[in-house]
Amino acid sequence: MFKKDFPIFSQKITYLDSAATTQKPKVLLNQTDTFYKKDYSNVHRGTCGLANQATSMYEQAREKVANFIGGESKNIVFTKGATEAINLVAAGYAQILKPEDEVLVSIAEHHANFVSWQQACLKSGATFKVFNILPDGRLDMDDFKAKLTDKTKIVAVAHVSNVLGVINPVKEIVELAHEKGAKVLLDASQSISHLPVDVNDLAVDYLAFSGHKVYGPTGIGVLYGKIECLNELPPYQFGGDMIDEVTQEKTTFALAPAKFEAGTPPITQAIGLAVSLEYLKKIGFDKIQKHEKALMKTLIKGLKEIPNIQFLGDPKYKTALVSFNMAGIHPNDLGFILAKENVCVRIGHHCAMPLHNYFKMAASLRVSFGLYNTKEDVQTFLKAFHKAIGFFK
Ligand code: PMP
Repeated sequence: MFKKDFPIFSQKITYLDSAATTQKPKVLLNQTDTFYKKDYSNVHRGTCGLANQATSMYEQAREKVANFIGGESKNIVFTKGATEAINLVAAGYAQILKPEDEVLVSIAEHHANFVSWQQACLKSGATFKVFNILPDGRLDMDDFKAKLTDKTKIVAVAHVSNVLGVINPVKEIVELAHEKGAKVLLDASQSISHLPVDVNDLAVDYLAFSGHKVYGPTGIGVLYGKIECLNELPPYQFGGDMIDEVTQEKTTFALAPAKFEAGTPPITQAIGLAVSLEYLKKIGFDKIQKHEKALMKTLIKGLKEIPNIQFLGDPKYKTALVSFNMAGIHPNDLGFILAKENVCVRIGHHCAMPLHNYFKMAASLRVSFGLYNTKEDVQTFLKAFHKAIGFFK
């Protein structure tokens, strides 16, 4: 239905790896081309018409991104990706945390939202705590409640895990965390392109996602922060555009979000991201969710018919992605045959080693959807998968 909007699909390819990165719509490619040809300049400096135009487009992009998630411009920091957005907050906390403090993350986190906090705790002397999931892939909320204490300063959790595809109970987590005086950082990398994400409704303190996973460019990410949270966080990098006044003796910093955007920002990418988000908004999440749910139903049905499939978590909870193994065959071997059939899936630990350890698996095969996928893609995958199994048996 939407495939025609994505020029890459003029090639014969079955792309089922949108959780790793999404393909780019024509509207984005055209806008990027026009921007470089007609409007390109640096931002927040220069006085010519081009500089004003680029600055205005960059700041409008911030506003559009804010609108997409229900925030305001002042809450939006542009980074180079979700990883940098999370690192920005964790690096700030490494300075703020005291040895008696605690940080709580789930075992299902992507390494970006796991290692960053582990390191912040190592630096500050705070305690790094990890709560569990249930075998069906949902968060173990009893374990969460048991490990959340008055000492917890921040809870870092994914909206949707990149391996499990489960939509986590964010509102409940936020409510419980706030009762204990802890902040919540939500990693929305895997939800932002599949379901509505509203920072007011979820009441999170920080939220991070990458542009390239939501049909936008690479090299751009978003950190949303409540303004009081951004104000208490120290700067992440130092340089141009983030200062108020500099003397030989000392420097005072600009207010957020400028405080966190040292140096020339990813201008083209930020403007491009806003274009992709508008494209998505026009289609609407009702349509996207209905379409992706139908794809998941067909895929899960097809997989369940295959004996010896081991799902990571119960497939009934999954949104737009599913990870699994085939007993007795290494996923690398299956991936090799699928690649020969021009079917792109992801093989490995998907940057979630603690989660794979929980399932006592070193790796898994992940199929993930974007809005451009079709039932034919699912059938092509299943056919290639059967072929791969046959080959190794
Ligand atoms: N969190 C999750 C849940 C992810 O899926 C990813 C990307 N796989 C990231 C964080 C990191 O995103 P990026 O590599 O774009 O910074």
